[in-house]
Amino acid sequence: MENKEDVICSFCGKNKQDTDVLIAGISAHICDRCIVQAYDILEVESAELSGLDQSARLLKPQKIKSYLDEFVIGQDQAKKVLSVAVYNHYKRILQPDTSIEDLEIEKSNIILVGETGTGKTLLAKSIAKLLQVPFCIADATVLTEAGYVGEDVESILTRLLQAADYNISQAEKGIVFIDEVDKIARKSDNPSITRDVSGEGVQQAMLKLLEGTVVNVPPQGGRKHPDQKMISLNTQNILFISGGAFDGVQKHISKRLNTQSIGYSSNKQDKINKDNFLQYILPQDLKTFGLIPELIGRMPVLSYLNPLDKHALRQILTEPKNSIIKQYKKLFKMDGIEFSIDKKVLDLIVEKAVEYRLGARGLRSICEAIMLDAMFELPSEKNKKEFKLTYSYAKSKLDKSSLVKLKAA
Ligand code: ADP
Repeated sequence: MENKEDVICSFCGKNKQDTDVLIAGISAHICDRCIVQAYDILEVESAELSGLDQSARLLKPQKIKSYLDEFVIGQDQAKKVLSVAVYNHYKRILQPDTSIEDLEIEKSNIILVGETGTGKTLLAKSIAKLLQVPFCIADATVLTEAGYVGEDVESILTRLLQAADYNISQAEKGIVFIDEVDKIARKSDNPSITRDVSGEGVQQAMLKLLEGTVVNVPPQGGRKHPDQKMISLNTQNILFISGGAFDGVQKHISKRLNTQSIGYSSNKQDKINKDNFLQYILPQDLKTFGLIPELIGRMPVLSYLNPLDKHALRQILTEPKNSIIKQYKKLFKMDGIEFSIDKKVLDLIVEKAVEYRLGARGLRSICEAIMLDAMFELPSEKNKKEFKLTYSYAKSKLDKSSLVKLKAA
């Protein structure tokens, strides 16, 4: 019979007297510390497995697009490009050890160009929702080079970590939307000798995030300081989608198209739709605009969003799964009130959004201006069972609202 003192943990070799608890199996023992360690390993593994499982069930591009169709009106080309890029991105994450096949699928970060309020953020947000991965929006305008007033580029990843509840392996599969990336463009095509706080330096700093390296992230954001504990995050499988209006890029595109058509067939010119030059955008136009080639190279998927016309705005009001009008209906329903809206009111809202140059973002403010009084009064009215929003009611509320001032502006 073995001596009690001789019993050791079969995993770490500690003697029984050096452990708090030693559990005996059929032919082995395990100590309390090894149990804790084994449990930790199990947690990480199962988190990774469930991540993979999720990717394995990854939807095909057409499915991704039809999901996006439920939330985003129009923008077919951008949806198509995004669906393929996202599908390939998650296939890439899933690919077995690359050293075996010797062929590595490169990361497909995306850049979306389109006027403000055309759905860039909405597209990125909807994709993250579909894939159930952590998602965050970062504003490129607040970023500065390390050492200047503003936020370090790493702060982008702090947001992602927060969105993932500090679950590192989840954050490492997340999606980051970098808004207003055009604002960090170099002001002229000539590299400047003087340091440029909000331009090229930030672009250089962003390269590091986009290429897929281990980045030390300050867990609480803000500026880095020497004694702060950092979290290491590998950005290799994080999908970066950036968006910007690139105001004025149309000029570069049209110039390029003009010069091209001199050398090539002049018929080409006939087919060019001059109302929407963005559809012809190429990476070189972003370079002319002031993005450095390295950054453009790290965001190889480029697409554009169309400006929203009246028809699209009208659809946005009622058609998406969580359209503004559907939201009002639901809110009133909670008070037992059936809400209906005259079609002419919808036209009025769209008209005003165009008139005040507010785009899709303005639809909500216009609706709020019309609805505020009703939302304030109706819930307290006894026996109120329905609310029919008529043209004259909407018009009278709008005329009184502060939005009218926008017209003068
Ligand atoms: P941006 O292009 O500036 O990122 P957003 O995606 O933030 O614009 O759009 C602002 C709001 O306008 C969205 O929350 C959404 O309600 C609405 N919106 C914009 N474009 C569309 C669209 N194509 N389809 C549906 N809603 C849209």
